[in-house]
Amino acid sequence: LKQFSHVLPEISLTSDGILLRGHRIIIPSSLQARVIKLAHRGHPGIVRTKQLLRARCWFPGMDTAIESEVKKCRACQATTPLTQRDPIQSTPLPARAWSDLSIDFSGPFPDGKYVLAIMDEYTRYPLVDIVSSTSATSTLKSLRRWFSEFGVPQILKSDNGPPFNSKEYSSFLEQLGVKPRHVTPYWPEANGSSERFFRTIKKTIQAAIVENKNWHEELEMYLLNYRATPHATTGKSPAELLFRHPFSVGFLPCVADIAIDEEVLLRDTAKKLKQAEYANSSRHTKPHNLGVNDQVLLKQPITNKFSPVFDPLPYHVTQVQGNQVTARRGGNQVTRNSSFFKKVEEENDEPEPAGSLNFGSNGLEIQATPTANASRIPGTPVTLPRPIDPQATEARLGPSGTPTGPRRSSRVTRPPVKLQDYLLPPRGGM
Ligand SMILES: [Zn+2]
Repeated sequence: LKQFSHVLPEISLTSDGILLRGHRIIIPSSLQARVIKLAHRGHPGIVRTKQLLRARCWFPGMDTAIESEVKKCRACQATTPLTQRDPIQSTPLPARAWSDLSIDFSGPFPDGKYVLAIMDEYTRYPLVDIVSSTSATSTLKSLRRWFSEFGVPQILKSDNGPPFNSKEYSSFLEQLGVKPRHVTPYWPEANGSSERFFRTIKKTIQAAIVENKNWHEELEMYLLNYRATPHATTGKSPAELLFRHPFSVGFLPCVADIAIDEEVLLRDTAKKLKQAEYANSSRHTKPHNLGVNDQVLLKQPITNKFSPVFDPLPYHVTQVQGNQVTARRGGNQVTRNSSFFKKVEEENDEPEPAGSLNFGSNGLEIQATPTANASRIPGTPVTLPRPIDPQATEARLGPSGTPTGPRRSSRVTRPPVKLQDYLLPPRGGM
């Protein structure tokens, strides 16, 4: 009860039997890990995973739970560089949505495909095509479809490499009245947000390859979450800004009544000032936290553009002398500067998320009869969420009762979260 007492005045129950804190759905304890897994699909970082969930749901200790789940994710650990500095976005925010776009390619990926993307600099809404060629013909095919669906922009920024330097490309834009603008990569005018976007989708694709998943599908699921996640600079999700209506991620019912307003521009300006301050402050060098017997990942040489930064099979540390670390894997021993190693957090044993979730109010019983409209019930007695299913806890442990190691082969598959004892809301109610 303590966990809920400070938020009790904000709690209400909808006619569908969904418990809300303000406009956010309260997730019962049995579904919390699964909701985090679904929000982390495509491997966004801790901040983006939090931003996606904070806008839609709540449960006690949510931030801490997200941090620990994402830190444990092996695919993230293998694909995230140790230090990441975001380029400062120095381009001013365009006056309106869909007027200034950036276009770029990423790839080729291991199956020979490329990712062609355009990003709207106002809403940060990306459109992505997986294409077999970087030719002008193929690029114009995507652009024609995108412009017919979303409208024609005023400006289209790109680098000045092929196909963006071709006659075909420039005459196509000219016919439609679009001004092409060539920017040099890494030059201040280059668009920081689209560069950042390409870096994150590259990570998503690497992570899908590490996990032996279909990267085309993982990329689409990542984009769904990306478009629904409030952007750090605008405070609104790209989809809300572009479509002006609530945008559902599917696994959580859409209850938020999202008001879009002029605060976007104010927030953007404030955020950029902060970013500039951060960039100007001195770099901090953190001492390493490695100790003997730690499990670590070793940075690997980049054999192709899509090999992950770290070798996903862990080493274990045998000796630490200042910044010099020695680690062993089988008969293989390496000594490197500590910056070549990343400490392994314990791997998740959660099952793969699949499909959407249904939940009623059972995770948190409120002694009140639901009324036709969402009712506010301050001071009503509340019981704690049910304890974790003991069977599920047992399944996390090995046959001997000790936690299983991170090796896939020794893992016991946990049965899917049981939903049948949840009150299903009336059809069409979610
Ligand atoms: Zn991850």
